[in-house]
Amino acid sequence: MSLLEVEDLVVQFYTEDGVVRAVDELSYEIERGEKYGIVGESGAGKSVTSLSLMQLIESPGEIVSGEIRFKGQNLLDLSESELRDIRGNDIAMVFQDAETALNPVYSVGEQIAEAIRTHKDVTDEEAKEETIELLERVGIPDASARYSDYPHEFSGGMQQRAVIAMALSCDPDLLICDEPTTALDVTIEAQILELLDELASDFDTAIQLITHDLGVVAELCDRVMVLYAGQAVERAPVEELYYEPKHPYTVGLMASIPRIGDEREELTTIPGAMPDLIDVPTGCRFHPRCPYAEDVCMKREPPLMDTDEEVVADDTENTGHVASCHEYTGELANGLDYDIDVRGESQ
Ligand code: SF4
Repeated sequence: MSLLEVEDLVVQFYTEDGVVRAVDELSYEIERGEKYGIVGESGAGKSVTSLSLMQLIESPGEIVSGEIRFKGQNLLDLSESELRDIRGNDIAMVFQDAETALNPVYSVGEQIAEAIRTHKDVTDEEAKEETIELLERVGIPDASARYSDYPHEFSGGMQQRAVIAMALSCDPDLLICDEPTTALDVTIEAQILELLDELASDFDTAIQLITHDLGVVAELCDRVMVLYAGQAVERAPVEELYYEPKHPYTVGLMASIPRIGDEREELTTIPGAMPDLIDVPTGCRFHPRCPYAEDVCMKREPPLMDTDEEVVADDTENTGHVASCHEYTGELANGLDYDIDVRGESQ
């Protein structure tokens, strides 16, 4: 049994213009201690997926169907108080904006100690000691002196470390990180990713990393799922996806990453924009932007298929490389002949 099993999740938002199907029959699993990346452009459904796990979808949104099993228990069957318990003790979240996650009128140390007292039966002194240990563990220098500092006295990188310490205070089995490094410069970003990597192995905590940046996923994750218009278009071990992307959308994302020593004069960009989720294109949702689209792509939606053996992938499979493209149903007459250099190397 996987730590997290999401099966056929559908999340809709009801707007004046129509029903937005933000997440559409999405399935994936995360193992204990695994670092799992979810990548896509803005509007692909990444954050809605994360908020669904925590049951934090607000009106006019709604989880319409599917299952979210955590340690075998469907979270959609739980009462609000049972969910609060899971949120505090088993699943924690780290958001992009650390500054707003911290209360400006309390010291950083007091806020983390309060989180510890909420989840554990400890004295004030024990909570303080544990807070200082956590601050040290996430790399805050001189942690006992910084305990009484207010959030505005911490740099952006230190604030994000403090938020991670707060999330770890309940010793969660799953840490959901939603764009945790987007607001940080590249040096601090590398440090935070290294920290998350260490913490995942030290605490045996699984990480679900949400990002628009495939480079961030390559730094941290074991496996990755690429989302497009609310659906998974590719899932693979991260190295395989990085060196051999199979879906034209992933290839386009890879080709748009700038790299050191890049020999290309111009970065490639994917033409067009994510479709309107009220009125998604027929067939393959990516077809209006895909350079390889053929008639079949407009008529039939391609299922997620094993990219090597051309068999329908089992959605409960935990490994393997799957993509949803008619290349892998065998129905593409001309095939995918990538003329895009995804890594900026001369070929
Ligand atoms: Fe492109 Fe067709 Fe494959 Fe969709 S199914 S990604 S449109 S080639």
